[in-house]
Amino acid sequence: MNFCRVFKCLLAIALLAGAAQAKKLDVITSTTDMAALAQEVGGDKINVEALAKGYQDPHFVEPKPSFLLKLRHTDLLIVVGLDLEIGWLPPLITQSRNAKVQVGGSGYLDASMQARILDLPTGQVTRAMGDVHPLGNPHYWLDPENGKLIAKSIAAKLEELRPNDKATFEQRLADFTSRLDAAEKRWLAQLAPYKGVKVVTYHRSYPNFAERFGLDVIGYVEPRPGIPPTPQHTLDLIGEMKRQNVKVVMVEPYFDLKTPNSIGRETGAQVLVVPPSVGGVKEITDYFKLFDYDVNLLANALKQVTGK
Ligand SMILES: [Zn+2]
Repeated sequence: MNFCRVFKCLLAIALLAGAAQAKKLDVITSTTDMAALAQEVGGDKINVEALAKGYQDPHFVEPKPSFLLKLRHTDLLIVVGLDLEIGWLPPLITQSRNAKVQVGGSGYLDASMQARILDLPTGQVTRAMGDVHPLGNPHYWLDPENGKLIAKSIAAKLEELRPNDKATFEQRLADFTSRLDAAEKRWLAQLAPYKGVKVVTYHRSYPNFAERFGLDVIGYVEPRPGIPPTPQHTLDLIGEMKRQNVKVVMVEPYFDLKTPNSIGRETGAQVLVVPPSVGGVKEITDYFKLFDYDVNLLANALKQVTGK
């Protein structure tokens, strides 16, 4: 073998190795919040895309053929879990015929595994009467402390799939955690004057948020998670809000405002549309901006209603 041929061969190997190294890990997430957290940790080592849009109800997403195509070719699927996606995602996972992203596969990550979960069932686990939270509350990303835990799980999974990039993922995780620590102090300070303030929410989306930031959720517009408001429940809620002097109703962007507005008229409460997800409104482009937006919105409203 002459020198030239050997050189060409080595060059080809080097180019192939370089291409393999540069190929980004393809990540699909069920929701935008998981995509935002994966982006924080993965940086330019991954391509990440969410299936649901941030302004959609994550319990009820219309499956599209394009979802199937994305799942078929991805390296990693990150789900919120706790049955949040049970109404739309499991058949797509099966039909994707991608062994990696099947439940328990090497490219499947349930982000709820390491997070702090509230509303855990005490009795028998059941979806009776349409309760869409049978395994505990799946809206757990709305606490920055859980954001850190989710990011940590994502980093561990990315390192498992791309051990050569471990240092990058570790460094990005540390950087994200310290930026989030600083931001969390700011958000806590903004809402500190209103600690213990009573609020009502439409769906049970904000228990982790309320726990972290000191809000007292005394009732819900929905009689049970996933069940639309009924006239009797609405009347009872109005009575309770008047008794307890509740002046704020938090509503997710994907619910009809008719019932919340009538509750607002009866009780004098402010009706606030509080996005629970990245992309809920266009200015919420990442995990930090989600809390920036929601905390500002609440702080402004609570300032008005409490006079503090
Ligand atoms: Zn829910």
